[in-house]
Amino acid sequence: MSEIIKQCKCGSELFYTEILTSPNSFQSVYKCSKCGNRIGILSSGEMEHDIALLKAENEELHDKLTQIDNWCRAYPLSVFPEPDMKEVRMALEAVGITIDSVAASIMRRLLNGIQEIVSGGVK
Ligand SMILES: [Zn+2]
Repeated sequence: MSEIIKQCKCGSELFYTEILTSPNSFQSVYKCSKCGNRIGILSSGEMEHDIALLKAENEELHDKLTQIDNWCRAYPLSVFPEPDMKEVRMALEAVGITIDSVAASIMRRLLNGIQEIVSGGVK
């Protein structure tokens, strides 16, 4: 690893003091000998690692949005025309079912499907 010379805002040279670690990254901490200013800098290898992780996460999120988008196109009006909801309501009520309970059931199925995609359950 090559030594990188860094300069403080005050113009003085920064000196390496320590490495701070966190669960997902670490950074080199430099301190100014004149004003005491401290800065943390991710090593380039660590930045490449972080960028790779972010790219993978971005790709995964993009795939999930694509799945949801595809699902949004799965019920086109040309194939499934809108029913006459007044007739649907009357037909359901004739057998003791409310249209609200049917609507809630459909919404639960939809939202459960989206939740499965978001949580990684469906590919
Ligand atoms: Zn300084």
